[in-house]
Parts: sequence; C-alpha cells; structure tokens
Amino acid sequence: MRDAHHVTVMTGAGVSAESGIPTFRDAMEGLWARFDPMQLATPEAFAANPELVTRWYDHRRMMCAACDPNPAHETLTHMQRVFTSSGCRFTLITQNVDRLHQRAGSDPVIELHGSLFMWRCTGCGRSTEQTGVAFETYPPTCEACGGCLRPGVVWFHEMLPEEAIGAAQQAAGACDVFLSIGTSSMVYPAAGLVGAAHTRGARTAEINRDETPISGSVDWHLRGAAGRILPALAESLSDSPKDF
Ligand SMILES: [Zn+2]
Repeated sequence: MRDAHHVTVMTGAGVSAESGIPTFRDAMEGLWARFDPMQLATPEAFAANPELVTRWYDHRRMMCAACDPNPAHETLTHMQRVFTSSGCRFTLITQNVDRLHQRAGSDPVIELHGSLFMWRCTGCGRSTEQTGVAFETYPPTCEACGGCLRPGVVWFHEMLPEEAIGAAQQAAGACDVFLSIGTSSMVYPAAGLVGAAHTRGARTAEINRDETPISGSVDWHLRGAAGRILPALAESLSDSPKDF
C-alpha cells in the first residue's frame, strides 16, 4: 500500500456489524420472525404485498439511521483522502446498503446492492433520497406522480445495478492492491472481484473474523475485527511517502 497507485476495497456486512447493524436475518425478530426472506425481499413479494415489504425496509432504514460509523469506516475515509490527495486512486465498493461509509465521509462509494436511503418510484422512475423520519403510509407514494415507492436495494431475482458492477469490475482489474473486508465472499459477482484483481497481478488481502472461500487464495488473510485491524494498518503506513 505504500507504493500502490490504485487501491480497491470491497466491504461487506461484517464492517456494518461492528456498528451494531443487524444482518437481514438478524433483523427478522419480533413481529418479523414469522416471515421468510422471500416474502420480504423479492419483486414478486413487493407486487403481492407492497405494504408489508415497504414497512420492512423502512424498519431497516430506521435501524441503520440509529447506528453510527465505526473505526473501520473512519479509517477507510481517511485512506481514501490520503490516496486521492497523493494523486493515487482509492476505489471503495460496498455490498452494504446502510450508507455508513458515506456518513463517515467517504466519497465516492460504489453501492453494489443499492441503498436503503434511496427510494424509487415504480410509476415515473424518479429516485429520491429518504433520510427523514419513518414514512406515514405504506407503501409510501411519489410526490410527483402518486405512484408507489420501492426501496433502492437489490432484491433476490434482480440484477446488480449495471453501472455499479461495471465500475467495480473496472477497479478490480486496474488496481495494484485489493482489500476484501468483512464479507463472506460467497455471493457472486461480488465474490469474483478479488479473483479478477489477483489474476491481473494485484496483491490481495482479506480482513475478516472468519475464514471464507477466498481465505486460501489471497496473499494475506488478517483475521479479526476490521475496526481494530484497519486503524493498525493505517498506523503502519505512517512512514510511507503518502501523507498519512
Ligand atoms: Zn413517480
């Protein structure tokens, strides 16, 4: 990383878990426990019961809004600033939909799975940022045309946003260091990015609490909490030519 010209980072649920954000399944408690994820997270479920599905996503939006970025998010923001101000590139890709990277100050962030805070009108297609209090009605409706709003997340049976996956693949192929952080590396095409980086000659590292399918094929596997390891990694770069 001292000599790198382009670092690409991909983060997953583990980074958010350290902020107290429950995973999709862990959030399914209380009155949500009786549902199956397929009743809440598919286009078919939304078509069948838009009230239920939008209530669920608004519930999750509120849970995320109540959590704060942790030292992993903050360190990545710092690294992005240092690399960018040194004339290098730092691409941050996330599978998380909670906006914690942006709230820590990271910009830009490639959101592979969309965001809980952007809602899209199923009538006119307009996307609006929703950062305020919970909606008053479910499904919420579009101010422009009265159509139903849906959360701007990627559901089961849906494709990843083309622009985001294209930018992620481009960054994975162009970087000289690729870090995979807090992701189980089980979901494609996201899981393929580290392999693509490796094939193109990048040095690769994984930071995760547990072993994953890629642990054996990365150059370094750092096991533990990202909120502890990333600040230590940044600290170890303080003697680099970049101004950490
Ligand atoms: Zn509309």
